[in-house]
Amino acid sequence: MSRLDSFIRRVTAQRDVLDHISAEVAGMDGPVIELGLGNGRTFDHLRERLPGRRIIAFDRALAAHGTSTPDPEDLVIGEIRETAPAMAGIDAALVHADIGTGYADKDAATLTWLPELTARLLRSGGIAVSGLPLEHSELAPQPLPASVSQDRYFLYRRK
Ligand code: SAM
Repeated sequence: MSRLDSFIRRVTAQRDVLDHISAEVAGMDGPVIELGLGNGRTFDHLRERLPGRRIIAFDRALAAHGTSTPDPEDLVIGEIRETAPAMAGIDAALVHADIGTGYADKDAATLTWLPELTARLLRSGGIAVSGLPLEHSELAPQPLPASVSQDRYFLYRRK
């Protein structure tokens, strides 16, 4: 599969999973946490699906399109491993983590801290959507929508 095909499958899976959970998240209190703002495409999608919901976005540098840049109070710049733990206990309804790199060694390093961070950010019953698998005793894997292959994107509920 070419990298273009792989990219298309990844962003299609992102969209389908975010659409799959957005109605449930809309009925749940708590902010949305976007780990990896990037260009701001998924931030913009979540903003459209969850109008009025506070979305706090994290990235090591601001590179989002101008129309998809959060307000300054909802943008946290720096290494997520260092910045996001300050928000542990915020009782997020949704954590979306799109910080996989496609490099096995870098992703393995991320996975030493991302599952625990995600669990600490979520409320009980809150939802985690991730491009990397999150193995954690408090995160229960959830079925994906039929359009998304196993291992393409990952979905969990905080116990
Ligand atoms: N979902 C975004 C979109 O739709 O535009 C794309 C996110 S992009 C794939 C991943 C982003 O996460 C990059 O902008 C990168 O700088 C950021 N990132 C990855 N690991 C990070 C870390 N450990 N700390 C801070 N930012 C990180």
